Amino acid sequence: MPTRTRPVAVWTPAFVADTVAATLGHANERGLLRAVGDVARAHGLLLATVEEWVARARAVQAAPVPPGLLFCHACDQPMILVQLPGCAQLYLCAPTCGRAPVPAEAVRDAVAAAMMRRKPHLVPAGRTSDAAAYAPGAMLRVSIGATSTDLHITWRTAPRQLTGPLMSMAQRLHHARQYSEGHRSRAIEVLRTGLIFTDPAGHKLALDTATAQATALLAELTLTNGDPQGALPWAAWAHRSLRRLLGATSPQARTALKLLATAHRRADNHKEAATCYSDLIRYNSEAEGPDALPTLAAQATLALVLYDAGRCGPARRLLARTITTHRHAHPQHSGGTRMVAALDRMRATCIDKHHGHQAGFDE
Ligand SMILES: [Zn+2]
Ligand SMILES: [Zn+2]
Repeated sequence: MPTRTRPVAVWTPAFVADTVAATLGHANERGLLRAVGDVARAHGLLLATVEEWVARARAVQAAPVPPGLLFCHACDQPMILVQLPGCAQLYLCAPTCGRAPVPAEAVRDAVAAAMMRRKPHLVPAGRTSDAAAYAPGAMLRVSIGATSTDLHITWRTAPRQLTGPLMSMAQRLHHARQYSEGHRSRAIEVLRTGLIFTDPAGHKLALDTATAQATALLAELTLTNGDPQGALPWAAWAHRSLRRLLGATSPQARTALKLLATAHRRADNHKEAATCYSDLIRYNSEAEGPDALPTLAAQATLALVLYDAGRCGPARRLLARTITTHRHAHPQHSGGTRMVAALDRMRATCIDKHHGHQAGFDE
């Protein structure tokens, strides 16, 4: 007698595309983790199954064409990569469109051919077989018509060669951290390649922490390069994303907020910098306590920002108060000397510039 087994569910490509589209749509509001859980529950699927489908549709290495490049010519929605056991990979549109699926391999070959025809110099020597991976450096978007060869390509006005286009975001982050010391420009290129379809000014936030952290690192390196204006949008996006993914008081979100505050300060945006440092003080205080060193450091920097903005009184009082707290809470710590020197400098500047404050202003 044959053993009784549970019936194996038969998933159609359209059902997988439907599930992936629903999850990604939902993820923009709820975050990817919760969206996967919600959709899995709603369809009675295993969490791991939905996770795998979504990961496959989004993963750079597994995708024949880099995620973010392909759109449906009929309805303008992003195409979804679907793979089922025993079947070839397919690109499908969201279920509402109802268009016919196209074989993924054929789409990859057509994109690669267009790349080699128009921009062969953006594909490094010996990487011709990966030409499609380099396509986002030259193509802004590719709309797929009825067949895999019916491509409508929007070319970039400022094309460039990509660095390491086949890496996953986690690999990219690791790689960029390794190179951030000696080869900063390479680290920046590796990160920019992974974020080529990310619009920090758009309303969509990062769906995973690796992407959000990669953005934070890009902002940090851009700031180190002396470009606070260039760093600002990335720092703001990284902070908003990490805040939603991990919470405002998480170490990662606080690090990103500090970065954003620093970028605003370097860009001479006094008001925005002051707001960021005030928020940072609050979150550091909630996470580590009002007398913790990171809280006091943020407080001392806020005093410097206020002083730069011409608010001598609040600045000097805040710094004096911070010095007192620091002295009581961390008598062994050396940081106090720097704060005392900064306060002395403020007092001297006020006198030099004839601000005319009365004595005992910050007692
Ligand atoms: Zn469509
Ligand atoms: Zn003054």
